[in-house]
Amino acid sequence: MTTLPITTRFAPSPTGALHVGGARTALFAWAYAKQHGGKFIIRIEDTDQKRSSPQSTKGILQDLQWLGLNWDQGPNPDATDPYADQIGEQGPYFQSQRLDIYNKHINTLVEQGLAYEDDGAIRFRMDKDIAFTDAVYGDIKFAAADLEDFVIRKADGFPTFHLAVVVDDALMNVTHVIRGQEHLINTSKHVALLDALGFAHPTYAHTPSIMNPDGSKMSKRDKAKVARKAAKEAKLTSMGGDDDAFTEFLDKKNDDMKFTLAIARLLELELPEINVSDFRDSGYLPAALLNYIALLGWNPGDDIEQFDMAFLVEKFGLGRIGKSNSKFDRTKLRSFNTDAIGNLDSETFSKLLRKQLSDHHPQYNNLIEDSTRFAAFCAAYQPRAHTLDEVATLGHFFVADNDAIVYNENDKATKKNLLKNEGKGLKTLAEFAVELAKLEPWSGEAGHDLIKNYCDAREMNMGQVAQPLRIALSGTTVTPDMALTLDIMGKSDTLKRIERCLSTFQSQ
Ligand code: GLU
Repeated sequence: MTTLPITTRFAPSPTGALHVGGARTALFAWAYAKQHGGKFIIRIEDTDQKRSSPQSTKGILQDLQWLGLNWDQGPNPDATDPYADQIGEQGPYFQSQRLDIYNKHINTLVEQGLAYEDDGAIRFRMDKDIAFTDAVYGDIKFAAADLEDFVIRKADGFPTFHLAVVVDDALMNVTHVIRGQEHLINTSKHVALLDALGFAHPTYAHTPSIMNPDGSKMSKRDKAKVARKAAKEAKLTSMGGDDDAFTEFLDKKNDDMKFTLAIARLLELELPEINVSDFRDSGYLPAALLNYIALLGWNPGDDIEQFDMAFLVEKFGLGRIGKSNSKFDRTKLRSFNTDAIGNLDSETFSKLLRKQLSDHHPQYNNLIEDSTRFAAFCAAYQPRAHTLDEVATLGHFFVADNDAIVYNENDKATKKNLLKNEGKGLKTLAEFAVELAKLEPWSGEAGHDLIKNYCDAREMNMGQVAQPLRIALSGTTVTPDMALTLDIMGKSDTLKRIERCLSTFQSQ
């Protein structure tokens, strides 16, 4: 007997976006194949004609590519038409293109009396006890009396998931089926079908579910949940348009994304990231996301938590997948991401941040184009960013109109640094601005030295100039390192903002 090369697959149904749970399943299957020098297949399970879509297929393939989970067989992700262009000998890898294959096996089952017609559908007889061993959940047994016959071909002529998955895993020589534990019960059907068709059993390994911190299952519905709760708190009764559908949304009768997004926009909500593309849009790095999701249900032992994919490929094993559900801990993921961002070389960070800003924040276009200022901006935020997108928020004052900076006489920091003691801070700022205006050539470093010399000469500490200056530039005392701040701001806007800040309070 020849042993088959280890072959795993990820078999998404293209009925929506790839969510983190799917990505975790794909990661485990990928890592297992890599570890054994085997093959990793992507198979698109699009037999549910109504719910499947080519856009969803494209999105899933793109997300897998972004994560770096490359496959040996399956749709060609770079093709304009992945339905037509596929890689591998055992395809096609779209179930919708395999109907003849399924029909052949269904007919065999009918001829052998193992399946029968019922109202236009074909049902498989479940009349034997079933036993199998799952690599995670152990020995699983079902008595024949507890099992029911089930449909393998629907009246529309399409096979059900159960039939298609079994035939494909067998014909594609899949040796290890790694998938979510929601399929554990289905496996009884799959094992019965394998036996009836005379196929060998692959090793099954079901992965535990991923939960929200409140114990609910993490799902795409979580976004609607957040939006619904906020809409109720804000007592929204209409979102313009279809009021009946909106009432149904509020009554949990639908989870329409249209309402979810409209509510989020109106109430400025942050929806929880669920899909891989949500995390990408928020500016998580694939390395951090993969590292974090690898720990959902698996660990390498010996307390190591942060690792790269080479480490995962070396250490991964089905034996270390736990049975209990794992909680999705966003704080931990953020901290992994902060480290991953901090560890990037500055050129890569600058490239990624540029893309993030130009894709999602057009107000940064001018800053991005000015290489000196943008280099300073990157240096200022790389060490502190939790996500790439957060940089857009933290740095917003740099790209705001000068007139949009808000100076608030009731703000605590403003009172302390500018207004108290009869406007001592304002006076210092006005006096220092005269010196700053003479600075030529302008540089952050020189600006910083000027503050230092100015303060040394007057026995002041640097904060007495720097804090009023920060408020003038940003409206707050939270800005990056002063030299970088001055580099990013540039001379003209720095002086204009100081001017405007002074006149705002002097006219009061
Ligand atoms: N198409 C199934 C799903 O998306 C895959 C099940 C399997 O991996 O066998 O849940």
